[in-house]
Formats: sequence, C-alpha cells, structure tokens
Amino acid sequence: MLKKIMLGTVLVINLISISVNAETLNSQQNIASAQASSKAYAADYSAVHWYRDSAESEAIYREVYSLAAQVIKQQVTAQNLKPQQWGIVLDIDETALNNTKWDYERDAQNNQENWNTFAATGQSLPTPGIKAFIKAIHQLGGYINFVSNRSAYLQTVTEKNLKEQGMYFDQVLLDASNKGTALVDKNPRFNAIINGQAPSKLPAQKIIAWFGDNIQDFPKLYQKQMVKLDPNGKAYQNFGTHFFVLPNPIYGSWQANTFK
Ligand SMILES: [Mg+2]
Repeated sequence: MLKKIMLGTVLVINLISISVNAETLNSQQNIASAQASSKAYAADYSAVHWYRDSAESEAIYREVYSLAAQVIKQQVTAQNLKPQQWGIVLDIDETALNNTKWDYERDAQNNQENWNTFAATGQSLPTPGIKAFIKAIHQLGGYINFVSNRSAYLQTVTEKNLKEQGMYFDQVLLDASNKGTALVDKNPRFNAIINGQAPSKLPAQKIIAWFGDNIQDFPKLYQKQMVKLDPNGKAYQNFGTHFFVLPNPIYGSWQANTFK
C-alpha cells in the first residue's frame, strides 16, 4: 500500500509539473500534446517500476530460463546433438541485458540522454537468471548466438558489456544498417546463422531455441500478423518448446497495436 501511495504521489507531482508547464504553452495544440504525453508518461512510469522493482519480473525471467535449460537438455539428449552441431539465438536488450537504468533516469530524473549514448557507456546489467543459463548451454556444447537490432557501431562496447557481466558468447550480430530501431527484420541473420553464411562467423548449426522480449525476435513472427491470428491455433505453438519470451511492458513492437 505504501508503495502505491508513494507511486501515486510521484505521479501526481509529475502530472502537476507537466500541467504547470502546459500553462506556459501558447496554443491549444501544444496543450493537447502535453496532456497526451503526460498520459503516456504515467503508463511508462508504472511499466518501468514493475520491470525494475517487482518480484514478479524477477521470477518470470528466472522461470523462463530455468525451464528453457531443462527443455534444451532434453532435446540435445533426444536428438543426440553433438557440440558445434547446434546452438541457441538470443536477443540482447531486455532479454540478456537490462537497460532500465536509462528508463529510470529518464522517467524519475527527467534525463534526456539518448538511448544510444547510454548503450555506448556499456553499463547495462544482466537480466535475472541469464548468466547461469548461458553457462549451462555453453557447457552442454551449444553455440551462443546473440542477434540484436543495436546499431553495428555499438559492436565493441556491446561485446565488452556482455563479457564484463560474465556472459559467454560465440558471436554477436548487430544491425549493419545502423537504423537504430528494434523493428529491423532479423530473419536474414537467423538464416545466415543456420546456413553458416556471412555475416555469421560460425559453421552451419541447428538452432533449437530462441529467446526474446519482442515477438519479432522469433523467426517469421511479426507483430502485425500475430495479433490477427487465432491464438488458439498454431500461432503460439512453439512457445515453451523452441521459443521463449521474456516480459517487456516498457517498449516493443506491441506499442503500434490498437488499444482495445
Ligand atoms: Mg529486446
């Protein structure tokens, strides 16, 4: 209850602050814009708060990685897979690295620093359960492939960040187009890894599990299509066996969906 009161108080203070700022605006259009942004701000604040500070967030990450490790071990045994024959693909941001220091400072301290500037500091922390999971898969003989839409110019600092946080990897494939958006299609890089072709630096490998916080971190899944499909049909059948999704209520391709 105390947390709710404190959160409510902070939100009211922030909304009052935005309201006061709005009074200095000259046009109705600007006032409407400020009201819209305050609404989005309040929703985002709760999402960041949940992600950073809830036991549920911590538990979901650990649950997913713990169950995934068990499922992968079973598949390796059942399919008699040998080291260097198989691997897994993971997204980086909010899957393996937690960047919410940036979100927190933006929301709570009104820090306007660009996200890429934050990423370039290499200060992102590991998500819950990821380090033990990666270690287990590496020891089992699987390749660890990171595929992220971070811009390619962040390659060195991203690899350094992962290593400093104790995460092993065999390769990190970022977005060579440097578009700076999470919506770049990852499928060409997924196929390159499977076929052992550039930009993959590894031999062809069987990918037996995929991890991400965005539906588009998974092969041939697209947000616009997924929300139109029958959820009781085949659309989600690979989740829990080959696809493992982590929670991200802060940002993602879901934000473009209709609020209904
Ligand atoms: Mg991500």
